[in-house]
Amino acid sequence: MTIPKNNTRTRFAPSPTGYLHIGGLRTALYAYLVAKQNGGVYILRIEDTDQDRFVPGAVEKMITALDNFGLHSDEGVMLDGDKVTSRGDFGPYIQSERIKIYQAIAEQLIAENKAYYCFCTETRLEELRETQRANKQVPKYDGFCRNLDPLEASKRLKTGEKAVIRYKITPNEQVVCNDKIYGQITVKTDDLDDFIILKSDGFPTYHLANVIDDHDMQTTHVIRGEEWLPSLPKHILLYQGLGYTAPEFVHLPLLLNPDRSKLSKRQGDVAAEDFLQHGYLPQALINYVALLGWNPGTEQEIFSIEELIKAFSLDKINKSGAIFDRQKLDWFNAEYIRQIVSSKNDQYQALINLSKKYLPQHEDRAEDVLKLFSSRINKLEELTELSKFLWVLPEYDTTKLVFKKSTPENTKKGLQLAQEKLATIKEDWELENLNKILLDIVSANNLTPGDVFWPIRFALSGLDKSPSPVEILEFLGQEESLKRLSLAQSKLV
Ligand code: GLU
Repeated sequence: MTIPKNNTRTRFAPSPTGYLHIGGLRTALYAYLVAKQNGGVYILRIEDTDQDRFVPGAVEKMITALDNFGLHSDEGVMLDGDKVTSRGDFGPYIQSERIKIYQAIAEQLIAENKAYYCFCTETRLEELRETQRANKQVPKYDGFCRNLDPLEASKRLKTGEKAVIRYKITPNEQVVCNDKIYGQITVKTDDLDDFIILKSDGFPTYHLANVIDDHDMQTTHVIRGEEWLPSLPKHILLYQGLGYTAPEFVHLPLLLNPDRSKLSKRQGDVAAEDFLQHGYLPQALINYVALLGWNPGTEQEIFSIEELIKAFSLDKINKSGAIFDRQKLDWFNAEYIRQIVSSKNDQYQALINLSKKYLPQHEDRAEDVLKLFSSRINKLEELTELSKFLWVLPEYDTTKLVFKKSTPENTKKGLQLAQEKLATIKEDWELENLNKILLDIVSANNLTPGDVFWPIRFALSGLDKSPSPVEILEFLGQEESLKRLSLAQSKLV
C-alpha cells in the first residue's frame, strides 16, 4: 500500500514503563493534533525492545491512559476490551514482534559492509573507557573489530561466541540534521561512535528499530521529546545508509518544574493517570498540556480538542523549556468544572459520574454536591473532604453559633424564628424561597443578617467556612435541616 506523499502520518512511540509521563501525554497530543489537522493518521507504536525494563501489563496501561484522554489511535496498537490488538497495514506495531525484521536489516547492512560484528567483551570495553578517561579523551569505541575478516567473524559466531552488530561511521564527514524547532544541527562523524544497532541477545537498539519502524510505517513527522535530539545524527546516518528518506523531525522542549529543574521523575508527580485519580478532568489536562511550549498567539486560553486541532501549529512552539505549573493547571481544572456545571453542557453527565468516585456511599447525591461546591474546588477529590459535614454534622464549639456582632439572645431568637418558619414549608424547599423567608425574618423582627444567617449556617455545618445557609438548607432538605437547627437551640440554653 502506498501513501500519497502529502498524507500526514504521525506516531507516538512510548516505551511501556508502566505509566504515561505528563511529557509523553504532550508528545502524544501534539502528534495527534498534527495528524488530525491534516486529515492524516495518528499511530500508536510500542517500543519495548529493552527487555530489562519489561513491566507486565504496561502496554494495556499505556493504551488505557491515552484512551482516557481521548487520544485514540487510528492505526497501530489499541485495546479490544482489555486485550491488546492492532489495526493497520504496516504492522506489527509492537517492536518485540518485529525482531526478525530488524535482524534481517542488520545482516543486510553487514553484507553491504555498512555494519560489522563486534566481539569485544564488557571487560575490554570498560578498560578502554577507563584508559580514555585517564587520557582525558571522550570515551568512544576504538573500532577494534571494525576490520575483522567476515569469515573469521562467522566462524566465531558458529562457536557460540557472543557479538553485537555495530554501525560503521565514515570518518571525517559531517552529518546535517534538520529539526523543525531547533533548526539545522551539524555534527562531525568523528565525534560519533560506531554505535550498536543489534545487541548480543538479537534485540535491536532503540536507534535501529526506531528508524526502520518510522520508515516502514511511513511516518511523515517524528514528534518526540528533546532528550532524543542527541540521537538524531545517528538516525540520520541510518536513514542514509539504509537508503530511506528521512521524515520531518520535531523535538519538543523539555518540561520543567517552576524552579526550572527537569520535571521530577518521581512517578507520583508526573504520571498523567495520577492527575486523573486526583480529579483533574482529562479535557482540562489536555488543554493545559497543549499550552506547554505552544503559544497560540492570541489571548485564548480555553481550548476544546476541536479548537486545538484547528489552532495548533508546530511553527509556534518555543525552543525554551516549558514550565509545568501545578497552580496554573489547578486554575484550568477549576475553570472547566465551573463552566461545565454552569452551562450543563454535553460534558455535564460525565462530570457527575466522575464525581461519584469521590463520594462513596453518596453517589446518588453527586449532582447536588457538585452544584454546592463547583465554584469552590480546583479538583474533584476535594469533594470528599468538603462534603463530610453534609452526611454527619461535626462536633462544634457552641459559642461560635453567636456571630461576632450578635448576642446570644438575638441568635436564639433568629434560630427559633427560622425553625418555626421553615417547619411550615410544604413545597418550594428551594434557594429563592428559602432566601426570601430568612430575609423576611431579619426585616420583620428588627434583626441583622448576622443574627439569622450566621447561626443557621453554623448550626447546619458546624464549620467556620461553608456554602451559604440557604444552599445547605436546600441540600439537606427540611427534615435534616430542622433537626440540626433544634440541636443548635438546645445547645444555646
Ligand atoms: N520510545 C521512545 C520513548 O519512550 C520514543 C522515541 C521516539 O518517539 O522516537 O521516549
